Amino acid sequence: MAFFRPTSFSGLQTLWKYPMFWPVPRRQQLFAVIFHLPNRKHVKCFPFTTTSQSAIPVDPKATHMLTTKTRSKGRDGEEKEGRAREDTSSPHPFSLFSAGAAKRRSKNQEELLMISKKNGIRPPEKPLSVAEWEELRGEFKRISKFEEVMLEQMIKCNSSIDVAKSLLSMVAMRKGDISYNLLVKYLALCVRQEQMAEVYDVYDIMKVRFKTLETGAYSLLIKGLSGSNRWREALSLLEEIKKVMIPSKGNYGDCIKGALNNQEINLACELYHEMLAKGLIPNLDTLQVLFDTGKCVKDDQLKSELLGILLYLRENQLYPGEALMQSIKLWFESIPGEKWQGHLTTIKNSGKCPVCNQNLEAIHLSQEEYNALKEKIIKDVIQGTDTFRKTTPQELKEFQNFVENHPPYDIVIDGLNVANVSNKRSQSQTLLDVVFHLAQQNLRLLVLGRKHMLTGSHSWKRHIVAAMQKKADFFFAENVSEDDPFLLYATLHSGSHCKFLTRDLLRDHKACLPDNLTRHLFFKWQRGHQMVLSHYWPGKRIKFQPILTYNTVVQTTGDTWHIPYDEQLVERYSYEVPTKWLCLQRK
Ligand SMILES: [Zn+2]
Repeated sequence: MAFFRPTSFSGLQTLWKYPMFWPVPRRQQLFAVIFHLPNRKHVKCFPFTTTSQSAIPVDPKATHMLTTKTRSKGRDGEEKEGRAREDTSSPHPFSLFSAGAAKRRSKNQEELLMISKKNGIRPPEKPLSVAEWEELRGEFKRISKFEEVMLEQMIKCNSSIDVAKSLLSMVAMRKGDISYNLLVKYLALCVRQEQMAEVYDVYDIMKVRFKTLETGAYSLLIKGLSGSNRWREALSLLEEIKKVMIPSKGNYGDCIKGALNNQEINLACELYHEMLAKGLIPNLDTLQVLFDTGKCVKDDQLKSELLGILLYLRENQLYPGEALMQSIKLWFESIPGEKWQGHLTTIKNSGKCPVCNQNLEAIHLSQEEYNALKEKIIKDVIQGTDTFRKTTPQELKEFQNFVENHPPYDIVIDGLNVANVSNKRSQSQTLLDVVFHLAQQNLRLLVLGRKHMLTGSHSWKRHIVAAMQKKADFFFAENVSEDDPFLLYATLHSGSHCKFLTRDLLRDHKACLPDNLTRHLFFKWQRGHQMVLSHYWPGKRIKFQPILTYNTVVQTTGDTWHIPYDEQLVERYSYEVPTKWLCLQRK
């Protein structure tokens, strides 16, 4: 190797002109590149191998997956939650890049994809020679990050890794080195295509070249390694992440899958409990792998873990998707000697299960439960510093006095939220219609408004606001204040008969709730007290969703389990609950 001394080759060099020095005897090797590591006087070989000389055609399905939004907006701009979002057993391509909990493209990726779209950059279908790449690069010479843009497109189009390798070959020739960013993008492509030999190579190179990696690379390596024979190395990487931050639920999920694939059930359960202790909510596909393992491995500890998962779903108001639900069903039916039978059903407003004729748990809170919840909410959510960051203590005090000095309400209305349900009518006219509709039923109403509603603007005409004030009490908060704490306070203060009207899900407050029991009571109270305007035809008809009488959470009587689940591809609004159930009975 004297020929390749650092003096004659600085940094990364291509060896492809000298096939006799190719370091790893792999068939169909295209080229190899070497790294010069200045502190070690050592040359590391980085063989890029090829699996095929011809490029794999672009997978149109994969491209489609990349463009599928994980969360879509519904008819009124409301957020929808679909099962496609979480319950996929195969990794979502962009989850490969998830550094934290968020499975979104990074700003950098968005930017690169924008550049490629704007300039019409598409990956070639076959590997190019260095000269061909240089020529292509010349056509886009105004683009400073050509290689990054191109690799990002290759990830998007799921290009053959041979095409990517031919690009890296050009970079190595040109710059004598391959940057961290390019290596990570190449790694993403390899992980996605489960090109394990390449994943190992990139990992080994990175270990030597970089002291630490950022979380995106760690996440990719964990995903890649956990499904391979070197799965234990994924655990070491998880430990590395833990030194600086909380790993993502995806990181844990990958390690749990790695452990389960290798029959290390105790280890998988330890990791599962560790992630819960860190406040991470597992992905549904992670839970599914646990149930699938339970079907094959008969182990009492695993059985109690799986029952624990069902209670966890209950406490956190989580709904399995169809795939997880099927795994739960098959697991129950496989328990020796227990003779469980599962049926899928739809439960109507009566709350009676048509399969076993049992009534589901009522949504009603006992007086004790109600009082406990009210006390906790007022203490932890309303007076808690976090939620009130947008409301001053003076305004809160003013509002509390206001509520004290009025008789209890029947309905508390989130004025701005209701005013925005229609884009066909002005905000004040929409709110007026709803207030008049409810006032006809002799209900005592409180509308939470904002001070800007009093300025006589085009959207908020003075005479309309004045007309509404004859039918309902109004409290006008500062324009920047958050409505939710006022809504919760006034509703809880009025007593358990009082309902509230909004399409908001009050999501932010769940995190402030101190324990599982309070969370469970809060969800139950919310579902039993939240009115949602489901249909509004201006001037004609106003319709509210019926408030359910039964509790839509996982529930058991010992001899039965009822599990609400989300159907595949059926999206529901965030304020809606599933109507499909798995009924399990012990025969
Ligand atoms: Zn049933």
